[in-house]
Amino acid sequence: MRLDKFLSEQTGLTRSQASKALKQSAVQINGEIEKSGARKVSSQDEILFEGERLEWLEGNQYFMLHKPQGVVCSNDDGDYPTIYQFFDYPLAGKLHSAGRLDVDTTGLVLLTDDGQWSHRITSPKHHCEKTYLVTLADPVEANYQQACEQGILLRGEKEPTKPAKLEILDDYNVNLTISEGRYHQVKRMFAALGNKVVGLHRWRVGDVILDESLDEGEYRALTAEEISGVINE
Ligand code: URA
Repeated sequence: MRLDKFLSEQTGLTRSQASKALKQSAVQINGEIEKSGARKVSSQDEILFEGERLEWLEGNQYFMLHKPQGVVCSNDDGDYPTIYQFFDYPLAGKLHSAGRLDVDTTGLVLLTDDGQWSHRITSPKHHCEKTYLVTLADPVEANYQQACEQGILLRGEKEPTKPAKLEILDDYNVNLTISEGRYHQVKRMFAALGNKVVGLHRWRVGDVILDESLDEGEYRALTAEEISGVINE
């Protein structure tokens, strides 16, 4: 594996932060400073970052990805590239996303090879909150906040949505926090209110907030705190 990739997966740095750290002589391999991110490393190498030994990670893997528009969260789609293109083999083949975003939605996607962990994010039983920045075609109306709190009956469904929090940012932009993951839920909630979503960006899942230093298409490993912070009991 390339050294810059190993560093970002082990430390939580983005690839560009890892390259910067390399240039600043923060990394040693087998006792010598290494500045090239392209250097190939294996579990036989002793790798120090800022003087601390990085262990070759075994066990489960957890990442956050900043999803761009035009890519899908499914494994295989004939029409669009998938989010797995951002991860190299063999990691790409091991991971699955904990919940999905639509092809035109941007923002935070969590990926893991830990099925129990992802189940606790997606299962309605665990009420894991997700916050979306929503841009609307028409101005926000006075009744939206109360309607979201009370629950909205979506077209074709029998049960209204669970209480959701709406924070109005300006006439066309709101933060919406939901704790379910129904099909196209956010778009359908605003459709039921007579509006239309024209921009959708997820920036929070549980306590995990999309890292602002990640550009679209970039990912980083979750910290131990983030791994435990997605679950709201
Ligand atoms: N709700 C939607 O409508 N789309 C998404 O991508 C996520 C939530």
